[in-house]
Amino acid sequence: MDFELTEEQRAFAQTAREFAEGQLAPHAAQWDAEGIFPKEAIAKAGELGFCGLYAPENAGGLALPRLDATLVFEEMAAIDPSTTAFITIHNMATWMLGTWATPAVREHWGPLLTTGEKLASYCLTEPGAGSDAASLKTRAELVGHEYVINGSKAFISGAGATDVLVLMARTGDAASGAGGISAFVVPADAPGITYGKKEHKMGWNSQPTRTISFDNVRIPADHLLGREGE
Ligand SMILES: Cc1cc2nc3c(=O)[nH]c(=O)nc-3n(C[C@H](O)[C@H](O)[C@H](O)COP(=O)(O)OP(=O)(O)OC[C@H]3O[C@@H](n4cnc5c(N)ncnc54)[C@H](O)[C@@H]3O)c2cc1C
Repeated sequence: MDFELTEEQRAFAQTAREFAEGQLAPHAAQWDAEGIFPKEAIAKAGELGFCGLYAPENAGGLALPRLDATLVFEEMAAIDPSTTAFITIHNMATWMLGTWATPAVREHWGPLLTTGEKLASYCLTEPGAGSDAASLKTRAELVGHEYVINGSKAFISGAGATDVLVLMARTGDAASGAGGISAFVVPADAPGITYGKKEHKMGWNSQPTRTISFDNVRIPADHLLGREGE
């Protein structure tokens, strides 16, 4: 295949390698052994733009192509796959929020997330819906100017230690499949949210994984990402 990385792409990879060698390598084994979620190191990654690699610029991101982001993740994952896996999830949630949130929500959360000062979890998987994501059952019901959320999520990376949740929930009926699912921005400490115990895992221990339950959690209607069912 006739393909070469550009000088800029090689520079990103080099920066990521140096960051990983300097900030992750000395601690990665200890973080994993002791189950430490290294928020300070993640914020340092944020200083380099690694918490908003492909998030839009108006959210504070670098708006890079996915390939460039992948080169950064690849270098960090070679040294600390556990922490890097969380950073990739945080990037995905930050991109969703930065791209589809209302201006007010984006202006609040965008800079906090792209700098890594605050962290995001991505909440799709449910106890009865893993690979078959279109069958999820968590519901978000529009009541006046708020959505009321009920249901539960499983295997959520960072849960209990992050600041905001990008949540997939059903706004249409069950027959609408993937078309009835919408995405929301939910503050992680909203009343009605409870976190389950930290899952026992083989590896990937520098990030907690937990279930999350939503019991009549109310969020402003403008915390919907994009439009219902999109
Ligand atoms: C450590 C960890 C962190 C995670 N973090 C997150 C997170 O942050 N956010 C989040 O939303 N989710 C997260 N997940 C969930 C992860 O995305 C799911 O585990 C994954 O989607 C698979 O779902 P499942 O575990 O329910 O497996 P299942 O859907 O039950 O699948 C089990 C197996 O069956 C296979 N299978 C399923 N359906 C079919 C089919 N129709 N035909 C053939 N084969 C099939 C699958 O490929 C798989 O091998 C995490 C999981 C782990 C383990």
